[in-house]
Amino acid sequence: MEKKYKPAVGNIEKIIEILDSEYPESTDTTLNYKNPFQLLIATILAAQSTDKLVNKVTEDLFKKYKGPKDFANVDIEELQEDIKSTGFYRNKAKSIKKCSRDILEKFEGKVPQNIDDLTSLAGVGRKTANVVLGNIFGKQAIIVDTHMKRISRRLGLTTNSNPTKIEFDLMEIVPDDKWTDFSHKIVSFGRTICLGRNPKCQICKLLKYCKFGQENA
Ligand code: SF4
Repeated sequence: MEKKYKPAVGNIEKIIEILDSEYPESTDTTLNYKNPFQLLIATILAAQSTDKLVNKVTEDLFKKYKGPKDFANVDIEELQEDIKSTGFYRNKAKSIKKCSRDILEKFEGKVPQNIDDLTSLAGVGRKTANVVLGNIFGKQAIIVDTHMKRISRRLGLTTNSNPTKIEFDLMEIVPDDKWTDFSHKIVSFGRTICLGRNPKCQICKLLKYCKFGQENA
């Protein structure tokens, strides 16, 4: 088994090719949004939740709240109630209100387009910032969510557990014109094949690049 193993780090182009052909449709986040602010709010709500559930909540939420002014001025308890089903709703409501206020006061009501300003907003870490930069501002961004964290470690693309360190490790390995797309493909791969529990290693097209898979298949 060991002899058949080809390290993923030296074969990233091949891996990208396989992911591209397996998931040609995965070119965007599965969160619904119509503008950068909506994507930012949806991504904050998606923490510890699912995109499907968040889309259900934002369908009504974005009809009720048209932009940062509405979120900044709403009574916190009312907002908590509106987002309750996404979980961790007290913290999320606090972050969304504060983040909206910051956007109004520091950025003239517009979502900033660089990582430093984005991560200065309440409730916005590098993952959320990279989702916004990669999906709506057309910048290349490695998005380290739960799928990227798990799969990059299994493939041996990183040995780190800290998401920021993983992001920087991957930035060294993945070509810089593929960062966002690679992130989308990894999410689809993580939802269909490289599952958290019981990954489908026997049918995985990346098996030859994956020591973890070969040892566990
Ligand atoms: Fe994931 Fe298994 Fe494929 Fe490795 S071989 S990438 S663990 S599904």
